[in-house]
Amino acid sequence: AYSSGSKKVTLIPGDGIGPEISAAVQKIFAAASVPIEWEAVDVTPVRGPDGKFGIPQAAIDSVNTNKIGLKGPLMTPVGKGHRSLNLALRKEFNLYANVRPCRSLEGYKTLYDDVDVVTIRENTEGEYSGIEHEIVDGVVQSIKLITEEASKRVAEYAFQYAKNNNRKRRMSDGLFLRCFEERYLDTVCLNMVQNPGKYDVLVMPNLYGDILSDMCAGLVGGLGLTPSGNMGLNGALFESVHGTAPDIAGKDLANPTALLLSAVMMLRHMELNSYADKIERAAFETIKESKYLTGDLGGRAKCSEFTNEICAKL
Ligand code: NAD
Repeated sequence: AYSSGSKKVTLIPGDGIGPEISAAVQKIFAAASVPIEWEAVDVTPVRGPDGKFGIPQAAIDSVNTNKIGLKGPLMTPVGKGHRSLNLALRKEFNLYANVRPCRSLEGYKTLYDDVDVVTIRENTEGEYSGIEHEIVDGVVQSIKLITEEASKRVAEYAFQYAKNNNRKRRMSDGLFLRCFEERYLDTVCLNMVQNPGKYDVLVMPNLYGDILSDMCAGLVGGLGLTPSGNMGLNGALFESVHGTAPDIAGKDLANPTALLLSAVMMLRHMELNSYADKIERAAFETIKESKYLTGDLGGRAKCSEFTNEICAKL
């Protein structure tokens, strides 16, 4: 479906370092002549007729029409009368599975060099259902909601993912299907840090996925490197795992790799594999050479220098 002409993709540049790393990705895509057209939208919350803040209609329409998007990090406002925009996007587009591949990179030394694990996290319920109430003064109850429908949906997605991506299929589905026994999560955490090479694809409920996928990111070099995809019933939204990095925003210091690799995942989802492979190779090569590494990877290069080097390789 994507093979002829150029397909429109919604771009949510985001806050903080978001616009810088989004511009880097756009530049690299242009250098690789990727046949897509970006449609940038603003998701700054607007007040609706009911007085509540929400995502602007134009942004919702764009994602609904294009059915595919790339998103930079969004600031989560604390106590400003509207809920996390990330959560709102997930709900709005029914993004039920969060996929995070974590792979050791050559040229960036961490404690392990054989990590190649994909976490697939149920993205809509569990502890994040948002059902909370105060029973009596000082006693708060929060409901962890698990439904068969959502559990099956994400499990099916995970099996399909493993198949499509030729994964080894050592799936820790027991963790997911056997009622989320706590000791299983304990064991996975323990084994993961002792020997991450043991794991391939993990599928798990929301909270555990949140925690374990961040841990996996740590195993391969941290937040500047890890991509993710949010798969929905009716489309998909790809995003870097990290936040807005307010400490380095606007200084041309951010590492665009996580967003770039998210965009590469997006290209594979669109079956534009040759472009994905080409861009990924150029990025990995640039990291391996270590000449233009950003600060988070121990280098001194600016975001723009790292980006230019990738473009030069393309
Ligand atoms: P953060 O990920 O923004 O920053 C943590 C540390 O990692 C900082 O030192 C930062 O400089 C560094 N870092 C992050 N991304 C980097 C990159 N690409 N290159 C180089 N260094 C990078 O986490 P935080 O400070 O806890 O959160 C800041 C804001 O981001 C908060 O408002 C939070 O709610 C939001 N956030 C959004 C998302 C999202 O949109 N998906 C995810 C996490 C946090």
